[in-house]
Amino acid sequence: MPASSDSDRPALVSHVRAAHGPGLPAALERLVAPFGGWGAIVAPHERVAVKINLLRGAPPERAVSTHPETLRAVLRALKAAGAEPFVADSPGGLNGPAKVARAYRIAGLSQMCAEEGVQVVDIEDQPVLVEAPQGRLFRHFRIGRPFLRADAIVQVGVLKTHQLMRLTGAVKLTYGCIPGLEKAQLHVRAQRRDDFADMLLDLHLALRPRFTVIDGIIAMEGQGPGGGRPRELGSLFAAGDALALDAALADRTGHPRRDIYTLTAGERRGLIDLEDAYRLAGDPVETVADFAHARRDIQELLPPSLHRLGRRLVTARPRLVDADACIECGECAGICGVTAIALEPLPEFDDGRCVRCYACTEVCPTGAIDAVEPWLARRVFGGRAGAS
Ligand code: SF4
Ligand code: SF4
Repeated sequence: MPASSDSDRPALVSHVRAAHGPGLPAALERLVAPFGGWGAIVAPHERVAVKINLLRGAPPERAVSTHPETLRAVLRALKAAGAEPFVADSPGGLNGPAKVARAYRIAGLSQMCAEEGVQVVDIEDQPVLVEAPQGRLFRHFRIGRPFLRADAIVQVGVLKTHQLMRLTGAVKLTYGCIPGLEKAQLHVRAQRRDDFADMLLDLHLALRPRFTVIDGIIAMEGQGPGGGRPRELGSLFAAGDALALDAALADRTGHPRRDIYTLTAGERRGLIDLEDAYRLAGDPVETVADFAHARRDIQELLPPSLHRLGRRLVTARPRLVDADACIECGECAGICGVTAIALEPLPEFDDGRCVRCYACTEVCPTGAIDAVEPWLARRVFGGRAGAS
């Protein structure tokens, strides 16, 4: 029985303490044992799309992308269960084959996949329209074709903070099934945080990945998902139910569950009870009290009626914070769905157009841009904006 068909509430979440190295396969086995092992999750000869985190090309120790050793352990386990895995994701921005290949190479994933004899599949061409019958905001999505041709999707992601959603977890991970710039357009169409979370949940429910492993051995804290700092947590999580899994990630990282936008989106739909979010198997989920969260936006503290005004006056906006770090690669301008960035040759931002999606800060490979609070927010709200 696929793990995701677990209809008992609360759903089962597994957590084990783990480290990269020779003990990782055994830790992964222990992680998946409460679900009946990989043999209960995939069937022999099933073609499994392993959806990873590949936000951009960054070395494994930066915790931007799925760690190659964690992915290697999952791929070996899937193959041992008789499945036929392939690896896929769509990095942020405009993706040509050379850019995607470079991202896989820098992340240490292409070499590892070659060693394991596992194909890396490009999803950028010929997206397919998929219905989202349970969608609240979106009734269809354009998805990378290989994900639809697979018998199942298994997600293997990294535990990261997220400036917009607060956490990059199992629900958010599914976003990369949408090819490159299509993602930027969805940012434009779902500008409010609640709307973006609803869109993510619409997408996740449309594709229903069968199982998710989230790697928090080295997580990302601070200004994730692209510009944060690596933080060793020594945790691996897994579940069939993505919302339950995300609740466990919130607990581990010291986020109140209702601070995570995808979780409150799930709660609004009756898909999760955030007072009793999961049944835990494995090791205790102890809160890391000093885990640094993404900076909170003043707009989040305002009532919804003031959000439009807040966006203009107090919401953090992207800025070039380190001109020396800018390599003029154009990634920021390439991902902006509203053409709010002009390269002159350094990026200049049109605040009137900008919808504050922060996608540009995610894809910048050097940390040259960041979300910066405007003067009024700093003056009126002082240090509150930085609090999480
Ligand atoms: S400038 Fe950056 S934050 Fe603003 S809309 Fe474009 S990508 Fe999003
Ligand atoms: S700010 Fe970052 S993404 Fe934009 S051009 Fe400079 S290095 Fe590239």
